[in-house]
Amino acid sequence: MSAATLALPDQSVLSQSGTDFVDEPQFEALLKRKADAGRVREIIAKSKNKEALTIDESAALLNADEPELIEQIYDTARQLKKDVYGNRIVLFAPIYIGNYCMNDCVYCGFRRSNRDSIRRTLTHDELKEQIRRMLAMGHKRTIAVFGEHRNYGPEYIADCVRTIYSVSYKNSTIRRVNINAAPLSLEGYRIVKEAGIGTYQVFQETYHHSTYTRMHPKGTRKSDYMWRLDSPARAIEAGCDDVGLGALFGLADWKFDALSLVAHAVHLMKNYRVGPHTISFPRIRPASGLTIKEVAEHDVSDSDFLRMIAVLRLSVPYTGLIITAREPAPLRKVALGFGVSQIDAGGRIEIGGYVEAGDAQTQALEREQFELGDVRPLDEVIRQLLEDGYIPSFCTACYRLGRTGEVFMEYAKPGFIQNMCTPNALTTLQEYLTDFASPETRTVGERVLQEELRLLPEGERRLVFLDRIERFRNTDERDLYF
Ligand code: SAM
Ligand code: SF4
Repeated sequence: MSAATLALPDQSVLSQSGTDFVDEPQFEALLKRKADAGRVREIIAKSKNKEALTIDESAALLNADEPELIEQIYDTARQLKKDVYGNRIVLFAPIYIGNYCMNDCVYCGFRRSNRDSIRRTLTHDELKEQIRRMLAMGHKRTIAVFGEHRNYGPEYIADCVRTIYSVSYKNSTIRRVNINAAPLSLEGYRIVKEAGIGTYQVFQETYHHSTYTRMHPKGTRKSDYMWRLDSPARAIEAGCDDVGLGALFGLADWKFDALSLVAHAVHLMKNYRVGPHTISFPRIRPASGLTIKEVAEHDVSDSDFLRMIAVLRLSVPYTGLIITAREPAPLRKVALGFGVSQIDAGGRIEIGGYVEAGDAQTQALEREQFELGDVRPLDEVIRQLLEDGYIPSFCTACYRLGRTGEVFMEYAKPGFIQNMCTPNALTTLQEYLTDFASPETRTVGERVLQEELRLLPEGERRLVFLDRIERFRNTDERDLYF
């Protein structure tokens, strides 16, 4: 794929809501104030009704450190997870397309000053081959990842998205392409939306102003805090109503960045009546030429990290929470219980990795952005999820039927899960079991499917669903959904 040189967008043109809503003195004051136990219980009770929490309320939960209150927060997070998402876990894998980068983010292996990084952009044919390999593993959802470079403008990204959708393997295609790339202009977002992207994900890295400035050296495009902070709002104004927020944990105080993520969700909700589709909370990993100690000034312990995930679950009940393979398998397993709804699995993060590294889960830091913590193959992750009582899901129905943004929240109700999400998750599981699963995974999967079938309510929909399962078992027909 030829990466044409493109003009860079004018970073002074912000969205209509383009203000800095990160009120640092206010957030810091809130995080110093401890609410009494009665108030914390009231807030927990509010969140049980699936009402999004305010910034003040979220700060009170982040500050609650009595074991009994923390337990109540975990219990409520588990309940909300069940009520809003059922026992489904959505699976995806990243496709790294190009690692040229004009920025010099202190924590990233792709930073321009890193001479050890092997730079590369996939050609059109290489990208197709990578996708074919992903499809052969069973993937249906991907997130395309790019460095920030004049070669990776919106037209180029849109071109990659179209290429990804065009690839088929047996009777399978990628059904949702999300993007993780630099912020775009309004026009840029329109161009990628037109190509059919799912979520546009941009992490603020840290919302703490002076830390942001230290991590993103002056003179680089990423040093513009406001351009980045405003990018989800621009994306929404341009019609990309599924936006993904995130912060890179370890750069600043975890409570501050967690509270700022909530503030960002509140800001979007207030201005556009739509919250973020997803929130991610990567913790810094070692990268080429970097140890964690060198960049992560604020250690985030596993227990603080898990507490934070639970508080986010309560604060933004309708936002999907993503924990990536940066984290080790045992920690991901715990986080799934009380909040996380999406994980990546079997992903390769070096450019060309799906073809060139195959299934070998060896890591070469000069080719990767950072080191992964969970390198299990997709089939093993799926089997483990099934054994732990989850339904692994490749469902992409909402996005393809226009149930996105504001509309999605109306649908994320219990009856909807029972009638749409669970059957859709089970049919995509059946597709995986028929086409890609190992014999061991197929055995566990068939058992779980039988158990879940018994729970589905009687009626017309059940009959349609059972018919689909039969067709996916016995014919080449695929991709039917509610
Ligand atoms: N270049 C684009 C950008 O910066 O937004 C998008 C791609 S960047 C490859 C994706 C994300 O990886 C960044 O937003 C950052 O949060 C995360 N990241 C960078 N270095 C990391 C590290 N050492 N450990 C964990 N995550 C890291
Ligand atoms: Fe480039 Fe993104 Fe890495 Fe920063 S985080 S150096 S912008 S790839």
